[in-house]
Amino acid sequence: MLNHTIALVAFAFIGLLTISTPAAASDAKFGPSNPFYAPSTLPFQAPPFDKIRDEDYQPAIEAGMAEELIEVQAIADNPAAPTFENTLVAMEKTGLLFQRAMAAFGAVSGANTNPVLQKVRTEEAPKLAAHYDAIYLNAKCFARVAAVYQQRASLKLDAESLRLLEVTYDRFVRSGANLSDADKTELKKLNEEISTSSEAFSTKLLAATKDGAYATADRSALAGLSDAQIAAAAQAAQGRKQAGYVLPLQNTTQQPNLASLSVRATREAIFQKSWNRTERGDANDTRDNISRLAQLRARRAQLLGYPNHAAWKLGDQMAKTPEAALKFMDALAPGATAKAAREGKDIQDVIDAQKGGFTLQPWDWDFYSEQVRKAKYDLNEAEVKPYFELNNVLENGVFYAATQLYGITFKERKDIPVYHPDIRVFEVSNADGKPLALFYCDYFKRDNKNGGAWMDSLVSQSKLLGTLPVVFNVANLPKPAPGEPALITYSDVTTMFHEFGHGLHGMFANTEYPSLSGTSTAADFVEFPSQFNEHWALYPAVFDHYAKHYKTGAPMPAELVAKIRKAANFNQGYKLTELVAAAELDMQWHTLPPSAPLQQPDAFEKQALEKTHLLLSTVPPRYRSSYFAHIWGGGYSAGYYAYLWAEMLDDDAYQWFEDNGGLTRANGDRFRQMVLSRGNTEDLAKMYAAWRGRDPSVEPMMKDRGLRESGQ
Ligand SMILES: [Zn+2]
Repeated sequence: MLNHTIALVAFAFIGLLTISTPAAASDAKFGPSNPFYAPSTLPFQAPPFDKIRDEDYQPAIEAGMAEELIEVQAIADNPAAPTFENTLVAMEKTGLLFQRAMAAFGAVSGANTNPVLQKVRTEEAPKLAAHYDAIYLNAKCFARVAAVYQQRASLKLDAESLRLLEVTYDRFVRSGANLSDADKTELKKLNEEISTSSEAFSTKLLAATKDGAYATADRSALAGLSDAQIAAAAQAAQGRKQAGYVLPLQNTTQQPNLASLSVRATREAIFQKSWNRTERGDANDTRDNISRLAQLRARRAQLLGYPNHAAWKLGDQMAKTPEAALKFMDALAPGATAKAAREGKDIQDVIDAQKGGFTLQPWDWDFYSEQVRKAKYDLNEAEVKPYFELNNVLENGVFYAATQLYGITFKERKDIPVYHPDIRVFEVSNADGKPLALFYCDYFKRDNKNGGAWMDSLVSQSKLLGTLPVVFNVANLPKPAPGEPALITYSDVTTMFHEFGHGLHGMFANTEYPSLSGTSTAADFVEFPSQFNEHWALYPAVFDHYAKHYKTGAPMPAELVAKIRKAANFNQGYKLTELVAAAELDMQWHTLPPSAPLQQPDAFEKQALEKTHLLLSTVPPRYRSSYFAHIWGGGYSAGYYAYLWAEMLDDDAYQWFEDNGGLTRANGDRFRQMVLSRGNTEDLAKMYAAWRGRDPSVEPMMKDRGLRESGQ
């Protein structure tokens, strides 16, 4: 996923500044000794993490906001008549200090946080919301943008410039620039309250997830885990200064260890800890936050002239309306649940054959599905993992595929400062040897890292500003005990390809304006390059190149490869159902009308799932409402459907590659030129259709998910 944990950065679209005249230099706390004061002199303007101290962020962020407001006001107050150059281009050049401070802060506070940084996040959240309001509700500034917009037909702008004008104008209008002064005041209050509530949700969730870890002193409760997993659990306990073993919670409902733990009581205990993590009636219970957030968002939508939050959010998306997104999900749900029901029956058969004497529950699903998989495909993770050593997957798989498609090459750099020793940095070059980007990867799980995996930028590409991209990938792969190799699952492999796909979208950016660059696209498009990149993980020429035994270097035996291939369709009913259920929850919360009373989350959730035929005893949503970080803490509210929407695009796109010769430089270069390098410089539906030769079709997705076998 992209940027889902960093609500603060998600708003930062104003762009960068080339010349810095810090108006806030008079601020005693901020001066030349602050490492953000001047642009970084490191290669690619990489942040000087070796010099940045925790206490440097807050003064730099605040000075950056002050500076940006002065810059924007100068544009608003310009006595010259508004032109594209003195208004739109000028705005693209504002906020450099703010950007560089926020990008580094977003990275560190998301992936390597501590109480000092958490406090800064909490304190800055409402100020940031007010900051964006101050820009987008600046009436004089909007009047200039609107004046240029009215003349657009006669300006003879190039296509990218016209797009910048339209997107910027739309952003102002959607932010409330057309509102009366009284309504603007109300909007500012709502934005601040939403931001504070969202931040409170994230803070509680992080603490609740940490508290929700399963701990035991009894090694036999962990039967089924490998020695290495048990050693990691012992190390996790040590890291928390506890005796025994600790299995930290992941952010999803289902927990990876449930596939191996053979003691049913342990599985149930872990599942319950996961399911109830934020509903324990303690200080970290998030239910009040989310019902309040849903109501605040509905009220804001009403103020802006929309029937509900989702209608407001989807206005600038590829899907365009909540109805289109709901229709798309409704089309997927019957096939998904029917396949999940068949999978559940296979699992119950195994339980019965083993005289289990119980009915399948969610905490049994992964354990027995692993057995069904083994029975059907004779494949288990322990057999596969020795062929997926992390560094080998990265360099001979993820990087290799990109080299084959796009000609880019990678060279590790040990001289670039990082915020944690686990991080590796690579310089990426084009086929002609010219520098393209810096790429950081931060793969191992830490207790002070948000859950899941994401990509973000430390520096965005822009020809106007003369910047090349600096992007990073974060994941939560289990860190091996010292001296052990990092052997990962096939699912982890696809996560790496996924996040790197976002990385390519950022690194290939080749646009004039920073606010249209790279991954700054609609949420239902932004997952397309990442999910598309996952397809290469199983592509024979790529797979054979990285799937080698970590000890012997032997290629994965052909029959094991065949099993992985077959297994790729396995359990897809469950996986799609849990995703559609989460996406439906998101859309149901966010299509609540402003007149709806404050909801009781558990009752609302049950009713929302019932209504969409997704209330299933064995397939819970991938995220429960109360720990659904994407929609309450991140930028994905009314946007979780975007993953599925983008899946339609990625399967359809991969079909094009298959039809046109697969992994070739010609195909890669064409895709790079027409899609990956283009950011948000054109209407996304048009951009896609121009590359594909037609609108996207859902058929390749249905086939890829194995939903076609019984005609539903
Ligand atoms: Zn993604």
